[in-house]
Amino acid sequence: MMIDSEEALRIILENRIDFGTEPVPLSDAIGRILAEDLLADRPLPPFDRVCMDGIAIPHDSFANGQRHFEVEKIGAAGQPQQTLNDSSKCIEVMTGAVLPKGTDTVIRYEDLKPKDEGFEVMIQAKPKANIHFQGEDLAKGGLLIPKGQRIKAIDINLLASVGKDEVEVKRLPKVAVISSGDELVEVNEVPEAHQIRRSNVHMILARLKELGIRGQDFHITDDREDIAATFERISADFDVLMMSGGVSKGAFDFIPAVLDELGFIKLFHGVQQRPGKPIWTGRKGNAMVFAFPGNPVSTLACFHQYVMPWLNACMGHDTEHRMKVQLRNEVLFKPDLTYFAQAKISFNEEGTCEAEVIHGHGSGDLKNPSSMDGFIVLPRGKETYSAGEVYDFIPFYPLFP
Ligand code: AMP
Ligand code: MG
Repeated sequence: MMIDSEEALRIILENRIDFGTEPVPLSDAIGRILAEDLLADRPLPPFDRVCMDGIAIPHDSFANGQRHFEVEKIGAAGQPQQTLNDSSKCIEVMTGAVLPKGTDTVIRYEDLKPKDEGFEVMIQAKPKANIHFQGEDLAKGGLLIPKGQRIKAIDINLLASVGKDEVEVKRLPKVAVISSGDELVEVNEVPEAHQIRRSNVHMILARLKELGIRGQDFHITDDREDIAATFERISADFDVLMMSGGVSKGAFDFIPAVLDELGFIKLFHGVQQRPGKPIWTGRKGNAMVFAFPGNPVSTLACFHQYVMPWLNACMGHDTEHRMKVQLRNEVLFKPDLTYFAQAKISFNEEGTCEAEVIHGHGSGDLKNPSSMDGFIVLPRGKETYSAGEVYDFIPFYPLFP
């Protein structure tokens, strides 16, 4: 009895592997998964910060009716805290300066008129205006970014501000991407009439690259000995082996049998889904194998349904690989399989994300997915999927940070 795609995903997630952590320089941290909770080493902001250019005054003087303030001195960013000695005067302050002692209100130049040796206040000044108070955003020791988050450019700002010139991140897995099949030739070769270029591996390598992972490229022929020899040679060097082709029911689909002989423990072979039904997955110690059927759309579906969430789980990365969307057009699908239907997404007038299914010409059609955004996941146990119903959607490209 073949398992369904939700059960398969559950098994995959149970088989998460911890790749460990490593320090990287701040300049290489973008896109990596943070492996430590990032804490504030000082309050944020670290002092009462003036946040407009203008003057700082004691609000009491203003409340008592004073409107003209003579400038006692200047308080610029980068100067230690100044003190206003005469409470009937003001200190001319710049954005980023420490709020001077003896003042509690900042008035912008836009609300002042220069007069005599100082300024006339032209507005009804509010106490505590234009000050970003110490610790207002976060207290010292507070949590800035929890571990497990993918580091985005804005996070680099936080990392830098708390002095992290080196950041502890999750180690990336070493991935081998292996094509199989005697019909395959290199990208730079001109195929004979019966041959095709081994395009899938490059799609997987590119998708991995989008996740910051540099995969290594291999090829095996449809020869049992070659498959076994290649696996024996390389499997110890990688955390993950991703293959495309050679797992279906064809006479030359030797991969499951060879992996079994080499001691890989099968997790499952075959899932009630289309495309990607013949997928084989297995594990030997801390090495994981994902063997996808070779058709490009099958490879694409299996990669996104299983590998993406598995990688996130392995790295403790707290994110979703799918989101809910509304089906835009009715789909009829009779087989008792979960249908990963190719779809284009858009937002309707109400702001709802809709997915329009455009089937393409089956799992060998590599042109159709190029104009699609991802798969809408139509669960088995139904034949008619009506417009307006809500289903999971898995994007083909990075949509979730
Ligand atoms: P298989 O899963 O080996 O039965 O292959 C299914 C189909 O996918 C066949 O038409 C293969 O020629 C094709 N195929 C297999 N590997 C690749 C690849 N790396 N790139 C493009 N097409 C492939
Ligand atoms: Mg093949």
